[in-house]
Amino acid sequence: MALIVQKYGGTSVGNTERIKNVAKRVAQYRKKGEQVVVVVSAMSGVTDNLIQLAKEIMPLPNEREMDMLLATGEQTTIALTAIALHALGVPAISLTGAQAGIVTDGVHTKAKIQNITPKQVHALLDAGEVVIVAGFQGQTLEGQITTLGRGGSDLTAIALAAALKADLCQIYTDVDGVYTADPRLVPGARKLQEISYDEMLELASLGAKVMQSRSVEFAKKFGVVFEVRSSLNDNPGTIVKEETASMEDVVIRGVSLDKNQAKVTLVAVPDKPGVAARIFNALADATINVDMIVQNVSHGAGVPATDLSFTVDKADALKATKVIETLKGEVGYHEAISDEKICKLSIVGVGMRSHSGVAAKMFETLAEEGVNIGMISTSEIKISVIIDLAKGEQAMRAVHRVFLG
Ligand code: ASP
Ligand code: MG
Repeated sequence: MALIVQKYGGTSVGNTERIKNVAKRVAQYRKKGEQVVVVVSAMSGVTDNLIQLAKEIMPLPNEREMDMLLATGEQTTIALTAIALHALGVPAISLTGAQAGIVTDGVHTKAKIQNITPKQVHALLDAGEVVIVAGFQGQTLEGQITTLGRGGSDLTAIALAAALKADLCQIYTDVDGVYTADPRLVPGARKLQEISYDEMLELASLGAKVMQSRSVEFAKKFGVVFEVRSSLNDNPGTIVKEETASMEDVVIRGVSLDKNQAKVTLVAVPDKPGVAARIFNALADATINVDMIVQNVSHGAGVPATDLSFTVDKADALKATKVIETLKGEVGYHEAISDEKICKLSIVGVGMRSHSGVAAKMFETLAEEGVNIGMISTSEIKISVIIDLAKGEQAMRAVHRVFLG
């Protein structure tokens, strides 16, 4: 008898029809004799609505109360899912995060799981119940309800699978798995059979938002193999696991496009120790996340100066330029230019480590498309370029064609 953890996201439980569908699928697994733990998200739109309600009352609501409020979303779904299983004659019981033994720290709205004591879950499974656990929530040792950050139900599922030593962890969503590129933008995009944790993390942080990044990091740390698949059909999904030797045979696993970036350039920054530290400390103090950073060689005779560019989320672009402007006197740069009409195109693959000429091939493809490269950054398994926003999709399709057929 296998123990399976299944997680269903907001769209998979978006209405009672969908919840009945989930119940049917769970019932099938149980009929085969498997023990099933089901983790559910709030019905789609519910969490956003609850946040909206609170903000109608005040712009920055108390975070303890936000957790109290948002936890109700998942609580609705666990009960409805249990009821849907009862309607099929399957014994099932719903548990809040706290009841499932999920203990977190006290950082409201973005708590970290400290430990899970799955005794109660095991006992209920052994008694023949399907156990339905509320995703996204936990409880501090002092008994305060907490939530794990947006998209946190993924983390609940992965962490439970680790704690229960589950044989299988399935993440059900509204797409068939992880693709070589966003199929809405690239008609030739293909579903991947498997992907390594590191590739998945790069793709997620690059804007291919299949899963919450924290949950993939957690899975990597604890070696939880999981499958991303659709709740709307029976197609096999994508297996996410530690890298295997054969994964390196494939040069590029996927291509992603992030249109949510803006570029800030400081022209003629004095080239001397402490300047970059000053600039990026100020940005960090304003809680602005900086992604790419590029600095040029010095130019100028008397006082050497350099150009410094970095990218931030589009939403932070204005804030970043304001912060930079306050430093003008102190740092003494010539001017700051902000450009929101850019995007970041990236290719990801562990195979890059053992294949040469990957960057050259990407740049050549962009050249053939007449796309100018504004910035370049690389890691062991990723190459990203900043290019003109208007040419982003065309460039993505070309790069996908060249590397992935
Ligand atoms: N309901 C939460 C959210 O919308 C958690 C989740 O869906 O994973 O962020
Ligand atoms: Mg979600």
